[in-house]
Amino acid sequence: MDKKEIRRAMLKILDQDQVLADDLDVMYYSYDSSFLTKLEKVDPDVVVLPRSTEQVQQIMRFAFENGIPVTPRGAGTGETGGAAPLSGGIVMDLCTWDEIVEVDVANMQVIVRPGVIHADLNEHLAGYNLFFPPDPGSSKMCTIGGMVANNASGLRAVKYGCTEQYILGLEVVLPNGEVIITGGMKSKAIKNVSGLNLTKLMVGSEGILGVITRIRLRCWPKPKARGIVMAVFPALDDAPATVLDVYQAGILPSGVEVLDQSAIRAVNQFKPEIALPEEAEAILLFEVDGNPASVDWEGSNIADIARRRASQVEWTTEPERMTALWEGRSVTATAAARVRPDGSRVFAGEDISIPLSQVAETLRKIRALGKKHGVAVVNYGHIGDGNVHTAPVIDPENPTEVEKVKKLVHDIHLLAIESGGSTTGEHGVGAVRRRYAELEHGAALKVMQAIKTALDPKGIMNPGKLI
Ligand SMILES: Cc1cc2nc3c(=O)[nH]c(=O)nc-3n(C[C@H](O)[C@H](O)[C@H](O)COP(=O)(O)OP(=O)(O)OC[C@H]3O[C@@H](n4cnc5c(N)ncnc54)[C@H](O)[C@@H]3O)c2cc1C
Repeated sequence: MDKKEIRRAMLKILDQDQVLADDLDVMYYSYDSSFLTKLEKVDPDVVVLPRSTEQVQQIMRFAFENGIPVTPRGAGTGETGGAAPLSGGIVMDLCTWDEIVEVDVANMQVIVRPGVIHADLNEHLAGYNLFFPPDPGSSKMCTIGGMVANNASGLRAVKYGCTEQYILGLEVVLPNGEVIITGGMKSKAIKNVSGLNLTKLMVGSEGILGVITRIRLRCWPKPKARGIVMAVFPALDDAPATVLDVYQAGILPSGVEVLDQSAIRAVNQFKPEIALPEEAEAILLFEVDGNPASVDWEGSNIADIARRRASQVEWTTEPERMTALWEGRSVTATAAARVRPDGSRVFAGEDISIPLSQVAETLRKIRALGKKHGVAVVNYGHIGDGNVHTAPVIDPENPTEVEKVKKLVHDIHLLAIESGGSTTGEHGVGAVRRRYAELEHGAALKVMQAIKTALDPKGIMNPGKLI
């Protein structure tokens, strides 16, 4: 079926303003925030913006009958090409379907449509003293639908976990247009062990099993107090050792971030007034939250533990000082992009996850890989759960540098698997990490493939992703 016919069919289901068909409009949907998929972009035939389950059903039925690929899309902040339509077809943009359907305070849950932006949801929930804890750095842009599809998380995952822990139930339109409700048809329960856990199957399925059209989320009471401990280490190995000491003392911080020497230098070069100690091999930032008494106890104990190995430690609950201590971490991603005046930070190989015991060694190995391939890399990340962010900096217009970064990123992914970790702790597989699926999952990959085939026999749902 040619694209004119597909566009005409969409206009029979949707209003004119819900169908984008101009070449320029559809071109913006040919990529997401990943670097590697930007190198080989494919325009969709049409972009649709449905705003009801019935509309999504009709689109899926049409696509199923005619074997047309469908790529669900939130805000396109994904770093793996997940929302990029590798085979053309229909891109289903769910951003404009952004209704908060119900805040059920009595049952500590909220029901939303997929296009709600994460930060908007938390702003809304704050009025009820509630919050949805996963906290991606893209909070002000990414949608809840995209977070569920990618099982997103952030720097507070160390205490609060990933999106999956908060999803109580979903409405999903399957590739053939049928609708299912997971987690119980009428359920408002928080605990539910009835049946196979299809909710967990859908969370992190990256749009390859169906379109998520309604999300029932568990909320938590909003913590009343917060504190920050900063500790500076002359030796890299002392940073993970301190994190372990803190855990062994029975303390679970809400965040534990690391900046290695490459990140410290990048921050100082970007904003000299932050003046992080340049000679340090690593800086740790602990965040604690809860009630004021527990925050005081945890913060002061973490500071005492850190003093055993650190050359400098500071602990505060004073808001302005907290912002100042956190500033180095909050500008790291931007600072990384400026380490070379003619370069850009590219999002590739950016979120490997490794065992806590391997963090220092892996950071050293990444540094060595950067040297081997002649690419500047800046390392920082969520050391509390072993999620390392590597920022390669290259001139993306220079084909030789692009080839170098591809090789570097491949080696980083292999390193993660060899270290007993994963190619991704946050951003997912999408198009860019598919090649590692067999190495990571072995025979389990065949089971994933069988599930995919059972739900999507024609292979129309986000083809070329995940498996
Ligand atoms: C600056 C920046 C910081 C980031 N920081 C973090 C971070 O800290 N933690 C983290 O986990 N991620 C982070 N990300 C990555 C990204 O923001 C998350 O993966 C986010 O969850 C993607 O949401 P989105 O709405 O942009 O989804 P998209 O990128 O549009 O889509 C992501 C995937 O979900 C699928 N999808 C989207 N909506 C649906 C739906 N309704 N039904 C079925 N499938 C769907 C798509 O097909 C695609 O496979 C960051 C990205 C950027 C640009």
